[in-house]
Amino acid sequence: MRLIVKKYGGTSVATATKIKNIAKKVASESKINKIVVVLSAMGKTTDHLVSLAKKCSKNPDLRDYDLLVSSGEQVSISLLSMALKDLGVDSVAYTGWQAGIKTNNSYSSARIININASKIKNDLKQKKVVIVAGFQGVNNGSITTLGRGGSDTSAVAIAAALKASECQIFTDVDGVYTTDPRVCDSARKIDVVTYEEMLEMSGLGSKVLQLRSVEFASKYNVPVRVMHAHKEGIGTLIKKEEKNVEDALISGLAFTKDESEIMIRGVKDSPGIAASILGPIGEADIEVDMIVQNVGSNGLADFTFTVSRKDFNKAIQVIEKNKKKMNYEEVSATKNIVKVSLIGVGMRSHAGIAGQMFTCLAKKKINIRMISTSEIKISVVIDQKNLENAVKALHNEFKLERK
Ligand code: ADP
Ligand code: ASP
Ligand code: MG
Repeated sequence: MRLIVKKYGGTSVATATKIKNIAKKVASESKINKIVVVLSAMGKTTDHLVSLAKKCSKNPDLRDYDLLVSSGEQVSISLLSMALKDLGVDSVAYTGWQAGIKTNNSYSSARIININASKIKNDLKQKKVVIVAGFQGVNNGSITTLGRGGSDTSAVAIAAALKASECQIFTDVDGVYTTDPRVCDSARKIDVVTYEEMLEMSGLGSKVLQLRSVEFASKYNVPVRVMHAHKEGIGTLIKKEEKNVEDALISGLAFTKDESEIMIRGVKDSPGIAASILGPIGEADIEVDMIVQNVGSNGLADFTFTVSRKDFNKAIQVIEKNKKKMNYEEVSATKNIVKVSLIGVGMRSHAGIAGQMFTCLAKKKINIRMISTSEIKISVVIDQKNLENAVKALHNEFKLERK
């Protein structure tokens, strides 16, 4: 018997009918495989809980917040367990802490530090189907949550702890696509993608898998398969890169609308200036993504960087507070930007991809505000209004619709 961890996302468990359908599938597979099911909350439950929290407090206490938002998963796991028992399947449902998922104390974005899987192993030995609430764990007796989309990470971490044969992530698309199929009609499903590429895709904005789940999968070498919850198909397998396989030049296109850009004009072009700006930003716990410094005239320079939109106001406050220390003329900032990235391990051995990307965008009269590259990705920051145009043009330019 193989051991499979199966995770179902919010839309896949949105109604009682969908939960009963999943129960039927799990019941029939439980005759051939050992199964652990990890569930998200039903439909938009978590969004609803988050908005309730905002209505009751301007700045909710994070322990209270996690206690609240983790409750959605408790509903879905209980319902699935009931439905399975109606089908004659012996099942047991656990919240995160009951399943032994220990995390650090970073409420609302906690990291899993250890899973004591002995209880689950024991249940599996007794031929039970084990159902675990995703998105949550425990720290020192307090419930923590793993950040939005965190059930993916729960599933992969449990698969790693149990040394499962595969972790299957069931969702509302039938696999990982060359880009978000909701933005580009010609997006194509990819059959196999490497951990490295998937890390970049998730890190650069494709929310189909939470970034930390891919980090876990890669670290513990867990094969992950993304599949449609209610349709047949092989989905997309995410696994270790194999040598001697001819890798696709470009495997995908990711984008994120979470960015904002801050330009500090007229700073002195002298040693230490980057540190004097980014020091206070870092101390305020704000993560900086891209950085560009343009050498201007009269010994003055412009220093531009991007931060996540959620940190935008905080960053502006820090900069204004430190005006003397940073010694600049003025600040101009915008939230109306996006980051578009091309990803592919095949880029390592091919020159000219960046040039081709920039020429394609130029032909469409799309201005590039910032660029950053690594071995297997090229990212550009552009105006938000050009997002769809850029994604479609690049998808076409690199022939991603074809295999
Ligand atoms: P779940 O609720 O099952 O966790 P998510 O909404 O978190 O589902 O993730 C699935 C969504 O990810 C899809 O509906 C799709 O719009 C989006 N998505 C973004 N980029 C991609 C991509 N490259 N391939 C597939 N889906 C993508
Ligand atoms: N229910 C949580 C969320 O909506 C976790 C998840 O779905 O993965 O973010
Ligand atoms: Mg998700």
